[in-house]
Amino acid sequence: MSLALDTPIAELNRVGRVAAKRLQHLRVETARDLLFYFPFRYEDFSRVVCVKDVRDHEAVTVKGKIELIANKRSSRQRTILTEALVADDTGRLRVVWFGQPFIAKNLRVGDMVYLSGSVSSDMFGRQMISPAYEREIRNSKFEIRNSTTHTARIVPIYSITAGLTQKQMRFLLKQVIDLAKEIEEWLPEEILDRADLILLPPALRAIHFPADADELKQAERRLKFDELFILQLRAEMIRQSLKQVKAPALHFKEQETRAFVASLPFILTKDQKIAAWEILRDLEKAEPMNRMLEGDVGSGKTVVAAMALYNCVLNGYQGVMLAPTEILAKQHFGSLEQLLPEWKLALLTAEELSAIGYRLSAKFTRGKREELKSVIATGDIQIVIGTHALLQEDVHFHRLGLVVVDEQQRFGVDQRQALRERAGAPGLAPHFLSMSATPIPRTLALTLYGDLDISLIKEKPAGRKEIKTRVVEPKNREKAYQFIREQVRTGRQCFVICPLISNEQGTRHYGGQAGNKENGETRNLKLEIWDDKKSVLSEYEKLSQKIFPDLKVGYLHGKMKLKEKDETMKKFVAGELDILVSTSVVEVGVDIPNASVMMIEDAERFGLAQLHQFRGRVGRSEQQSYGLLFTATDSQKALERLSYFEKNTDGFKLAEYDLAARGPGEVYGTAQSGMMNFKLASLRDTDLIKLARDLARGIDFVKHATLKERVKEWERIVHLE
Ligand code: ADP
Ligand code: MG
Repeated sequence: MSLALDTPIAELNRVGRVAAKRLQHLRVETARDLLFYFPFRYEDFSRVVCVKDVRDHEAVTVKGKIELIANKRSSRQRTILTEALVADDTGRLRVVWFGQPFIAKNLRVGDMVYLSGSVSSDMFGRQMISPAYEREIRNSKFEIRNSTTHTARIVPIYSITAGLTQKQMRFLLKQVIDLAKEIEEWLPEEILDRADLILLPPALRAIHFPADADELKQAERRLKFDELFILQLRAEMIRQSLKQVKAPALHFKEQETRAFVASLPFILTKDQKIAAWEILRDLEKAEPMNRMLEGDVGSGKTVVAAMALYNCVLNGYQGVMLAPTEILAKQHFGSLEQLLPEWKLALLTAEELSAIGYRLSAKFTRGKREELKSVIATGDIQIVIGTHALLQEDVHFHRLGLVVVDEQQRFGVDQRQALRERAGAPGLAPHFLSMSATPIPRTLALTLYGDLDISLIKEKPAGRKEIKTRVVEPKNREKAYQFIREQVRTGRQCFVICPLISNEQGTRHYGGQAGNKENGETRNLKLEIWDDKKSVLSEYEKLSQKIFPDLKVGYLHGKMKLKEKDETMKKFVAGELDILVSTSVVEVGVDIPNASVMMIEDAERFGLAQLHQFRGRVGRSEQQSYGLLFTATDSQKALERLSYFEKNTDGFKLAEYDLAARGPGEVYGTAQSGMMNFKLASLRDTDLIKLARDLARGIDFVKHATLKERVKEWERIVHLE
């Protein structure tokens, strides 16, 4: 059978149905996938030494002849030992394997073998324990050193799931590695030259089976560059496409804006003023603004966005504000209604529609929805508030001047294009403002949003009390409940966050981390049973029946119908519930100033950025609020993380801590962070990030159509997630 890049892995040699399934879990379905399944680290066994030169605890390879090999039952444990004696010209070495009796069949007396591992001494002398082994292949065509797969070389270690072994993975890769030369080089010559990169096919070969450390370094550099370059190309594409179009120049209506600011029940913070000023200045330009407004939860981004929308409408253009959830869209609708009472606003989500300043009469046969859409298209509505889903619908706008997108950083070229086409302002593209409460450190912002200008709100409105945060020891749980009871007695409300919806639905999660030992016998297979974890439904039952039978407890999770969710949320907002047990659905944006306690179960399950978002749900008034974290973990690392969280309230600091400890994919969610395709690159690759950025600048996408295709393909993959 001849192999091709799209040959299914099941057709490879020695892949059973079970192994194929397991590989599928790793998203490896074809030979090509296998080539792009990179090792997560390496073991350097390239040093081949004589038996007499072997030192204790050094990773080495010895090559010798098997003089003896036999299985033996160990005296105390009931495992089988395989003992061997291996000799070269300089001496003899004892070798032992545990629980792998088949080795005594695989290797025979007289075989020349490579053994890779480390040696330790006991009272009988030196011994190699559970080394990787490989018979020497006598094939004159190859240099011996490069013909080994598991020993006598830099050996790749893959991240694998239960039931797969490193040996198996290497065996599979060995079968497909020659296909690497069929992978198409996608970088133009000129980029390869300027960045001094090796070609893709040899890079792919070397990332799996490097001849030496230098080759590995070259391969890593090349493949990291690919990952980073895509992001920079995308940013550049957006930049260029924005340059090509004109946007309406929205004049700064100074008097009206001053009056608006004066009418607010509070004084704007300095950061809010600066951000607003940056945005309003951008809007005056005849090119589309492409700006991100970053500010911690509760820093007051909404009012800044309102000022921008206000100026947009005053200039006779329509504004749009998009939120990630129904609840949030409604809350924005409510906020804008209060901030801009004289305007005509519409709320249009999948479930909900209403208008202010315009009476829907249902004169349309197809209902109010169609009517609302039609008055949006005629411009009778000045500001449209909706969820991101609005973009998928055939909503047409009237002289669309500004699009504000809340809590979504990623806004694709195609999405912009689609909006432009429906903007109802011939020849003009709307301005874009994204808002994010996720603090993004500079390097990450540069990597991911090279195309965006950034405004920061760092200080919080005055008068906010810091949220007192404690990791509560399990033995103090009763006290915590007592505390919540007291808070409720004084009229406050409380959130209880759990990582799971219900225990029955709890999926078993196999978090097996690939160990470094061969053949999987000592692989640390961690079986985590989620059934031990707190769930919304079990905690709801416990709290409503046993702990607080006299209080009003409700629950919320993502699998509930929108209507139920909304009703529960409404009740909580109205103060009809004292305690709300919820999953992370309350994470973004929702504003309930009366809530004073945020209790989080199994807190180690969440990232610090996410915990910070939870914490931001309380402390939205002048009264003292509290964060109570519970955890059952005894992992030192996890406890340290939580203790850092306890002491720090700066979202940026927390994000940076998390970033260093867990990586961007974990912190921001792989899809959102744009890191989902990052297998090798990281934010520490600052030089390479900068190089990729410089080389992407000014790329001619007409000349290099394949680059454009690549970016489009990348966007498609990311949106699928
Ligand atoms: P976020 O940045 O998380 O979206 P919001 O815009 O929802 O924050 O603002 C949080 C709360 O703070 C709102 O109730 C808002 O009215 C209030 N707020 C905004 N700016 C100020 C300010 N300068 N002083 C006092 N309160 C403010
Ligand atoms: Mg907000």
